[in-house]
Amino acid sequence: MPNRKLPIAILGATGAVGQRMIQLLAGHPWFEIAALTGSDRTVGQPYGELVRWVLDDAPPAEIAKMIVQPSEQVADVALALSALPTDAAKEIEPLWAARVAVCSNASTYRMAEDVPLIIPEVNPDHLAMIERQRAERGWQGCLVTNPNCAAIGIVMALKPLHDAFGITTVHAATLQAVSGAGYPGVASLDILDNVIPNIANGGEEAKIETEPLKLLGRVVDGRVAQERIGISAQVTRVPVIDGHIALLSIGCARKPSAEEAIAVLEGFQAPPDVRELPSAPAQPVVVRREADRPQPRRDRDAGKGMSAVVGRVRPCNLLDLRLVVLAHNTIRGAAGGALLNAELLVATGIVV
Ligand code: NAP
Repeated sequence: MPNRKLPIAILGATGAVGQRMIQLLAGHPWFEIAALTGSDRTVGQPYGELVRWVLDDAPPAEIAKMIVQPSEQVADVALALSALPTDAAKEIEPLWAARVAVCSNASTYRMAEDVPLIIPEVNPDHLAMIERQRAERGWQGCLVTNPNCAAIGIVMALKPLHDAFGITTVHAATLQAVSGAGYPGVASLDILDNVIPNIANGGEEAKIETEPLKLLGRVVDGRVAQERIGISAQVTRVPVIDGHIALLSIGCARKPSAEEAIAVLEGFQAPPDVRELPSAPAQPVVVRREADRPQPRRDRDAGKGMSAVVGRVRPCNLLDLRLVVLAHNTIRGAAGGALLNAELLVATGIVV
């Protein structure tokens, strides 16, 4: 725990994810918001006057008064949480990483070979990549990413099963909430009374098929040796506000019974240092045994939105195991994921 509150910046603070970051940082024991950035649309204006707040309540009064800064101007902070769009992140995140630690939601650098892609409960050891990243890029700071908002729930469910039974194959079909598209996102006339069987022209499926291989891989000499699992994904956008569901069929080297799989999922614990982090949920994976759970509206706030909720664990006719996993996309899948990574950087002494 730091002996004083560390100043933190939010890049892309006016968007759907940036707003969640502000919400989660209210009253945070380690961090205080020192800078908010936006695009030319909002720079120079008081945050509260221009933001289209999409969450409940309103931004905290002291935040509403802050003037939005240009994203290209690196502030004097210890850490930055980035909620920038992919294209803007490409230029802007390295500018910041040269001086401060950046925890990014953007997909831009997730698969870059020198950038750690982290879920603290799954692969905190991948932070070992930072030493080589700093040496090769000449950065004083660093760049760390968190995974795609659908991939994160999937990997939190797969990790304990993979360790226990050796996963070989995954088929994933998702039902993804509209907040995953930011604001204003998908037009209401497209999504109400409807399901859209594509997100980002196949880009979302590619993320779900590749990011788990990096997350479940091993770090050797500052690079990830990716895990070898065959993953096939199909995605849909559905008229739910928050909470992405994935329906998984899983093939394993050793076929578990449903009860064995449930015991492994319920027993999954983060490493002790990660369990102590302020935003870490008590249980990374919550298992529901009811026939009709998890549901976005009822289960997305489990562990304050930081737990993955698994249900309908049962045998599969084609592969070995089937289950449903739900994760809150703007908390666990975005703002909360980046914040937990920032806490891990402090707890491991990478940020002081
Ligand atoms: P969003 O609602 O569209 O917000 C984008 C933010 O970036 C706004 O603050 C915007 O500022 C700023 N911005 C836009 N263009 C910029 C530029 N050229 N230079 C500097 N700032 C710029 O998007 P979002 O849903 O919050 O997503 C943010 C990032 O997180 C994206 O990379 C997204 O893929 C990723 N992500 C989102 C989710 C989710 O569930 N929504 C989950 C995981 C990851 P202005 O308002 O000033 O224009």
